[in-house]
Amino acid sequence: MASPTELRTSESLQVLRRVFGYDAFRGSQQEIIDQVVGGGDALVLMPTGGGKSLCYQIPALVRDGVAVVVSPLIALMQDQVDALTNLGVRAGFLNSTQDLAARRRVESAFLAGEIDLLYLAPEALGSGATISLLDRGTIALFAIDEAHCVAQWGHDFRPDYLALSMLHERWPDVPRIALTATATPATHAEIATRLNLRDARHFVANFDRPNIQYRIVAKQEPRRQLLDLLRNEHPGDAGIVYCLSRASVDKIAEFLVANGINALPYHAGLDASTRAANQKRFLREDGLVMVATIAFGMGIDKPDVRFVAHLDLPKSVEGYYQETGRAGRDGLPSTAWLAYGLQDVVQQRKMIDSSEGDLTHRRMLAGHLDAMLALCETVECRRVGLLAYFGQHSDPCGNCDTCLTPPQSWDATIPAQKLLSTVLRLHRERNQKFGAGQSIDILLGKKTEKVAQYGHDSLTVFGIGGELREAEWRAVVRQLLAQGLLAVQGEYGTLVLTETSAEVLGRQRTVMMRREPERSTSRAARPRG
Ligand code: ADP
Ligand code: ZN
Repeated sequence: MASPTELRTSESLQVLRRVFGYDAFRGSQQEIIDQVVGGGDALVLMPTGGGKSLCYQIPALVRDGVAVVVSPLIALMQDQVDALTNLGVRAGFLNSTQDLAARRRVESAFLAGEIDLLYLAPEALGSGATISLLDRGTIALFAIDEAHCVAQWGHDFRPDYLALSMLHERWPDVPRIALTATATPATHAEIATRLNLRDARHFVANFDRPNIQYRIVAKQEPRRQLLDLLRNEHPGDAGIVYCLSRASVDKIAEFLVANGINALPYHAGLDASTRAANQKRFLREDGLVMVATIAFGMGIDKPDVRFVAHLDLPKSVEGYYQETGRAGRDGLPSTAWLAYGLQDVVQQRKMIDSSEGDLTHRRMLAGHLDAMLALCETVECRRVGLLAYFGQHSDPCGNCDTCLTPPQSWDATIPAQKLLSTVLRLHRERNQKFGAGQSIDILLGKKTEKVAQYGHDSLTVFGIGGELREAEWRAVVRQLLAQGLLAVQGEYGTLVLTETSAEVLGRQRTVMMRREPERSTSRAARPRG
């Protein structure tokens, strides 16, 4: 006789084939589905494109009752329901965008058990009306999508998610499955605690995306660098270009269009219909380039995105991983390209300093940024660094920029001392703080207006840095920041020493730095890195 697990397995497999039209499960899908169908809880960490949706959609069809799917992606609920409807699966959603009539229809379908999946926004569970509705129906399972949103130490915290801990208290017999595409070991633990999933089975997939080639280059002339990438390596390909601000999204999209690239903008400042229209075109047409803020992409399932380019530094490694993960879901070779420069570091520190929230929160943001900087400045395989961040091991991949063109490292102790002592002297002798630009001008002995105005040409460090070019000095500052040997502060991004700066100044410490491969430094006339 077949065991209950075998029976469940064969039923799930039938649903996979009959409803979804796939032959076999991928990775751990089968085990995850068995766990939930059998009434157990599951915590699933699987990279974007790994196939998380089926892990709750199939149990939704196999178990009695309606699966309640909690998702923060209100804008995508209609699409998700439409996609299921096209497969013949009965699904509905409840959210704030609906009119009352539509709401009532979904509510009665839920109560009558005439749908198999009900999508809800997390805030809905804060409403007594929704809870009493759920109480009156039969719930097959709870699926908590984007579960990392519950983690206060994560990069995408949403307070509404905290209320989800009540699911278990209120419906202790209903199995729960929490899913996320991004979690460091700490976030992972926090999800388990906050959602009360300690007895759940944890399924952690391999986070490696071997078909993605990771490259991080020094920002020189970002527009030209981007255009080179698109023209030389990805002509006619679909891709996403991420920028930090709405204004730069608009400018870069215009710039690309002016240069013959089929590009569209996407950010929260555009009206809803333009956003929807641009998103639709990106999904349906071939070879479109979406220039976007990070508002774009969550839940977007376009398999043939051939590149993801970042023109600004992501705020965290988790964000970087998630955004780059939108490339190459079809498994074909794809590029994750990031251009970053000193200005990015200064700007982000500024944002952190001026951000709301207490000291702990700002420390967390600074920690995220430091990890991102370390990935940028590493001389080791990017993939090794990236996976290590998620607590996973990889051998050097042979398919990232540092593997393909290993950067040389060089002893930068003396330049580091010169730079730090410039900062020290400005502060000690003049009681002044300046940004990187002024310190570099001083080291290079440039007689600029500002140098004259402040009499900086009489400092003993004036003109002692002729051994490096300006771009190289900027790289020195960047790497001192990345190594925590220097810090930037305040609205003007002024440089300040850190506790460890003294070790360099006191010659107790050598400073090794990454030398940019020639390819990326030689061409720029006026470096901006
Ligand atoms: P995630 O939510 O993890 O990013 P999805 O659930 O959207 O991933 O799945 C990514 C893609 O892989 C979808 O197009 C989905 O239909 C497909 N997929 C998922 N599981 C399988 C499978 N077992 N066989 C074939 N394709 C699958
Ligand atoms: Zn590598």
